[in-house]
Amino acid sequence: MRIEEELKLDYSDVLFRPKRSTLSSRKDVDLNRTYKFKYSRNEWSGIPIMAANMDGVGELGIADALSTNEMITCLTKQHDVKKLSKYKNLKKNYKNIALSIGIKKEDFENLDKILKEYSFFKFICIDVANGYSEHFSSFLKKVRDKYPTKTLIAGNVVTADMTQELILSGADIVKVGIGPGSVCTTRIQTGVGYPQLSAVIECADAAHGLGAHIIADGGCTCPGDVAKAFGGGADFVMLGGMFAGHDEGSGKIVKSNGSKYIEFYGSSSDTANKKHYGGLSSYRSSEGRTVRVKYRGKIKDTILNILGGLRSSCTYVGAPSLKQLSKCTTFVRVTKQFNDTFVK
Ligand code: 5GP
Repeated sequence: MRIEEELKLDYSDVLFRPKRSTLSSRKDVDLNRTYKFKYSRNEWSGIPIMAANMDGVGELGIADALSTNEMITCLTKQHDVKKLSKYKNLKKNYKNIALSIGIKKEDFENLDKILKEYSFFKFICIDVANGYSEHFSSFLKKVRDKYPTKTLIAGNVVTADMTQELILSGADIVKVGIGPGSVCTTRIQTGVGYPQLSAVIECADAAHGLGAHIIADGGCTCPGDVAKAFGGGADFVMLGGMFAGHDEGSGKIVKSNGSKYIEFYGSSSDTANKKHYGGLSSYRSSEGRTVRVKYRGKIKDTILNILGGLRSSCTYVGAPSLKQLSKCTTFVRVTKQFNDTFVK
């Protein structure tokens, strides 16, 4: 047994230190980024925020809304040719849509079918809860061999060594985060995890050294956390809970005590397993929660709020664009993030 003594940090453990700046208005801050990916050599431009491939979030309605801001939606694994064929805006929005697959044989077959029909998709997200298995790396290699010009997202991992391993196995973008998610119970069920800000900082450093990119996936609770992820070096930030509860996610609205709610659940929760796989296998336990989130109407307002916060973070630290945010970032460690007198 070994203990690593070095302190690792979450978003709530730090704040940005404000810096002198020549920026006169947050309106002038440019949130657009252009990336060229390591293997696919594809170029993408937009605001690098992504919707997670979770039910109620990784949906085509969300893709419509996010695409208007050139933001990406990772569709859930349940999107097959049949579902996609009914989507009217596919030709318009495909550049900002990622297909998701697991590592089962059926997943690869579904991907082949989709790409045979719609070869224009550019992003493939190979997504497992634990990206540390050898089987995962060899599956990734197979997808890379078959699809050399697709931009491959692979995860999830939380350490530099495995970020490098996935990149060397063919990932253009590594997805970072084990256990920080709003409806994730991995840390309770398994005791496994890594504080998210440190994971982002360490994995970004490893990926950038190899000319690849990372996504900070999970754990953002407010616009300030999204800014901290970018400040820590994330190239993309993926949101689940912050995008849940909106009309575009097409979840059922339930009324209770005069308020409206929408059900939201983890991809490995009982609810998701029952819905998509007819229940949990006997050797597995649920690692996700089912919650009710307050109904929040149109996602447009939530997006504006996040982007407004992000622009403001940039002005506070003197970054004229999102690209410069991490260079302008000095974090101060804190013991209290905000005054919660009026927060229940
Ligand atoms: P959030 O933005 O809600 O904090 O985190 C979203 C991320 O949580 C997803 O992108 C995914 O990586 C992770 N996640 C989603 N469902 C589950 C689950 O059931 N269990 C675990 N461990 N993580 C989940």
